[in-house]
Amino acid sequence: MKTSIPATGLERLTAQIDLGTIAHNTRIVADHAPGAAVMAVLKADAYGHGALQVARAVLAGGATEIGVTTVDEAVALREGGVTAPLLSWLSTSGFERAIDADVRIGVSSPRQLAAVVAAARTVGRPAIVHAKVDTGLNRNGVAPDEWPALREGLIAAERDGTVELQGLFTHLAHGDEPEHPFLDVQRDALAATVADARAHGLTPTQVHAANSAATLTRPDLHFDLVRPGIALYGGVPVPGRDFGLRPALTFAAPVILVKRLRKGDGVSYGHTWIAPRDTVVGLIPAGYADGVWRPLSGRIEVAIGGRRFPQVGRVCMDQSVIDLGPDGGGVSEGDTAVLFGDAPGADVAADWAEKVGTIDYEILTGVRGRAVRTYTGEQ
Ligand SMILES: *Cc1c(COP(=O)(O)O)cnc(C)c1O
Repeated sequence: MKTSIPATGLERLTAQIDLGTIAHNTRIVADHAPGAAVMAVLKADAYGHGALQVARAVLAGGATEIGVTTVDEAVALREGGVTAPLLSWLSTSGFERAIDADVRIGVSSPRQLAAVVAAARTVGRPAIVHAKVDTGLNRNGVAPDEWPALREGLIAAERDGTVELQGLFTHLAHGDEPEHPFLDVQRDALAATVADARAHGLTPTQVHAANSAATLTRPDLHFDLVRPGIALYGGVPVPGRDFGLRPALTFAAPVILVKRLRKGDGVSYGHTWIAPRDTVVGLIPAGYADGVWRPLSGRIEVAIGGRRFPQVGRVCMDQSVIDLGPDGGGVSEGDTAVLFGDAPGADVAADWAEKVGTIDYEILTGVRGRAVRTYTGEQ
């Protein structure tokens, strides 16, 4: 298994990322949207997986474009050697750098368009723009009452050669609920905006709306291009549905100390766990500063050699204790404990998410601290 840490006394907490799995997940997503291009969403350092490495994997798996939040994220990919089309959709400045690096820009207001136009004049090259339309998420995207002004601004900017409107897009409020009627509302609102743009002479060629969940479940939302994120990493896009996606990130720690406890001994701060019998415990160097959420204290199990063992007592900043049972479970110092990921018997990030009341996106992007990223399955 790729999940084993070399037995070299390398006492590292690792986020082991399998790029072959990311390519596999990308192919699954692409197969669900045969008529659309795939823009892989690599924001937030590819959901904590490492944007540059993930970029190569998604492109190998059939994605042809990459979407990120900020201009900085996009420029870093370009400087890292990524030549695929890049779209950035949340920055309000830095557009000169974007245009210079051939990064497409999402705009959500006439003010942002004005800044893009000014940047295009400075750089001396047109900006390629995707107008983001707010169809009911009420987050970013141009509000309906400002759309006519943005449209007129786009028409003027195309006329003087500072902007090329390539895309029109929106983002869904209920993407992970495939039956939700609001999906229809947003689809129709986007289509109406596209029709209005075309009626006024604009010619966007990339209309897009679908996140992972909508890509996998709602062909009517595919339009020209889909924007999957969580599915690429093997998260759970639609609770309760299995699409054959596999977790790409395995969060694992070495067992660094094994010791005997007697019945009645308390473990970790506050002694919230008292050994109910003589037992053996193992220590792993993984705590809440690394992304093992403290509210999970005493509520998770780790997988060691395919067997599950409970974590006991409070999760600390740097360490957590595992109850290996009276016979020690056959576990030795140096063995690998998988916290979550792709290993026999291991939890997945969504299991943790359910317990702490969040989503696996937050668990995955929360792996940090001393966790060292390692990569396998390089394309
Ligand atoms: C994050 C994001 C996505 C990807 O969403 P997933 O649910 O992770 O597939 C797509 N589009 C936009 C605008 C986003 O911000």
